[in-house]
Amino acid sequence: MSSNALFYLTSNDMPLVSHADGIYIWDTTGRRYIDACSGAITCNVGHNHPTVKRAMVEQLDKVAFSYRTQFESQVALDLAARLVDLTDGEIDKVFFVGSGSEAVESAIKLAVQYFVAKGQPERCKFVSLRPSYHGSTIGALGLTGYEPLEAPYRSITLGSVKVPSPDLYRYQEASAEEHIASVLEQTESAILAAGPETIAAVALEPVGGASTGGRMVTRAYMEGVRALCDRYGCLLVMDEVLSGMGRTGAWFAYQHFGVVPDIIALAKGLGSGYYPIAAMMARQELVDEVSRSGGFMHGHTYAGNPLACATGLAVIDVMDSERLVSNAAEQGTYLRQQLDQLAQKYDCIGNVRGVGLLQGVELVQDKARKQPFPASFNAFDKLTALAKARGLLIYPRRSLNGLEGDHVLITPPLTVTASDIDDIIALLDDSLA
Ligand code: PMP
Repeated sequence: MSSNALFYLTSNDMPLVSHADGIYIWDTTGRRYIDACSGAITCNVGHNHPTVKRAMVEQLDKVAFSYRTQFESQVALDLAARLVDLTDGEIDKVFFVGSGSEAVESAIKLAVQYFVAKGQPERCKFVSLRPSYHGSTIGALGLTGYEPLEAPYRSITLGSVKVPSPDLYRYQEASAEEHIASVLEQTESAILAAGPETIAAVALEPVGGASTGGRMVTRAYMEGVRALCDRYGCLLVMDEVLSGMGRTGAWFAYQHFGVVPDIIALAKGLGSGYYPIAAMMARQELVDEVSRSGGFMHGHTYAGNPLACATGLAVIDVMDSERLVSNAAEQGTYLRQQLDQLAQKYDCIGNVRGVGLLQGVELVQDKARKQPFPASFNAFDKLTALAKARGLLIYPRRSLNGLEGDHVLITPPLTVTASDIDDIIALLDDSLA
């Protein structure tokens, strides 16, 4: 039997995973790691949670799978209602899918179908930010603002109109306010150049995740983008695949900015690593319009099956009963203080940014000039490997545009305590040293 039949095996010295509990994960040699990145910013309620496991087993004992064209399931209805409640009713409808990429993909399709239904089929272009990450399927990749990922497929992707993502660390203007104003101006110019009547939606991550390492925007920026969408009649899509489900100290990151999107893509934390469930949420009007013209034409076999939805419900139950959203806000503040102290101690930390338990650390060669390490130095890989050797898992990302530095994300499960954070910081400190 081949010991290396996995298509994606990237390294032969990858440890074999054994088991996990809470914020810890062990390999088969008995080594313990602190999972300070929740896997892929996914395991929000921590590993091996008894409540989630119990709910999944209870659902398995009843029915794991039923097909949505043959049966509706109470757990799907309940989970959809819970998600709508978490938006305070600002978003009315939920469509279950299987991954973050598919949530984005279905957001693209809903936006296009909405305008077709309204008799505006020419509205089929999208505006997205550079850098950004929206997923790996062809549609989601077309929104993703990172050329090397899209390059081989350029002829078959959407080719969205790319506009700059606000950068509150490295901007050239005299103030952050002027920078935001300039980015908004460039966004409007791009919309006008593409033809406003051809734009279906502007898509963005409310807080950058793997793409920009926790880069934040401001309320003025969000309000500005919303105003542009309203002025030119297009939709606002927020990709909350990574930032949603309490990660930032609010159920959805958009809630920090007081700006309501038309469509939300949600994934990672919803299944919290226990089941690949994701969702696309949309305003009632969009769904009504599409329903009148024959219904939304998207659907995968596993979408919204009972086991998936029972998992999502159990995750939300745990988040509620353990007050994990407020814990994310509280521990996020503590984590940020500790990371800021490391930034004072180490010249290679150029910037710490993010909100709640979504914190990014940008690595630079020259702090005063904010100059990144050369790409060949692989700063993100080096720090991640040093941390892993010390039993700490952090999430590495190469700079997506070559202009900013590599970064690592520190995004522990939302169950993390202050003393866990002390352990994480001690190991990170040692790795940086
Ligand atoms: N959007 C964002 C913002 C993401 O961070 C990711 C995953 N890193 C995706 C979409 C794609 O999600 P998935 O990997 O589940 O397809």
